[in-house]
Amino acid sequence: AVEIVNVRKSFGDVEVIKGLSLRVARGEVLCIIGPSGSGKSSLLRCVNHLEKIDFGAILLDGSYVGYRRVGETLHEMRLSAIAAQRAQVGMVFQRFHLFPHMTALENIIEAPVGVRKESKAEATARARALLDRVGLADREGAYPGQLSGGQQQRVAIARALAMQPKVLLFDEPTSALDPELVGEVLTVMRSLAEEGQTMIVVTHEIGFAREVADRVVFMDDGQVVEEGLASEVLESPREQRTREFLGKVL
Ligand code: ATP
Ligand code: MG
Repeated sequence: AVEIVNVRKSFGDVEVIKGLSLRVARGEVLCIIGPSGSGKSSLLRCVNHLEKIDFGAILLDGSYVGYRRVGETLHEMRLSAIAAQRAQVGMVFQRFHLFPHMTALENIIEAPVGVRKESKAEATARARALLDRVGLADREGAYPGQLSGGQQQRVAIARALAMQPKVLLFDEPTSALDPELVGEVLTVMRSLAEEGQTMIVVTHEIGFAREVADRVVFMDDGQVVEEGLASEVLESPREQRTREFLGKVL
């Protein structure tokens, strides 16, 4: 599970996460929606400690993310410990972030071999199974430049899965795609959800959220405005701000 407890985060004088708490149980899919600048990406980046938090705590299966407790205070972990922890959190970005000089297969085995010290044979076998799972079994030798955006994003998902993460974080994974390529990526994400992968998905795809999310959070101005079942938050929001936002995006 992921627990976010009263987290605050500022950039300079500007506080962008304002005492935010959320909990994601194992196997749960949480979708986060909200206007531009509301802090969604910043929050995800805190969850794998790409950003330090100023206050509060984030826990992954009971362990502090990025920090260790000494008496009453939290100290940042050493880089090696941060890296080990980050390996348990998969991240899929809006832009695909594949290594351009590596094939699809090489992209997927890079971290298992380089970080996890798996044998190349073992990592390759798993990578092939993952490519099959995202519908790209026949493209293992392709370079990112030879793949469509949707295919690249599916390789990026396979690469994140190769580390067998405790949680997968998605930051608007389809918003950089041509409309006709969105569906193939959402289909892969839907199947992961059905298989019980714990996921936090920042998305503007309200239809996807309605269908796949166990819970939906509406964020605005660094805070959770409203949280509940997808059917509640998306179909009959309690808060005026949520209604206004949904009115604009639907
Ligand atoms: P979008 O829907 O446009 O992706 P978002 O909800 O993901 O928006 P964030 O990217 O988290 O929003 O940004 C929240 C606020 O923090 C914004 O005001 C942004 O300008 C600011 N911000 C984000 N990253 C940094 C940074 N590295 N340095 C300074 N300010 C930042
Ligand atoms: Mg963002």
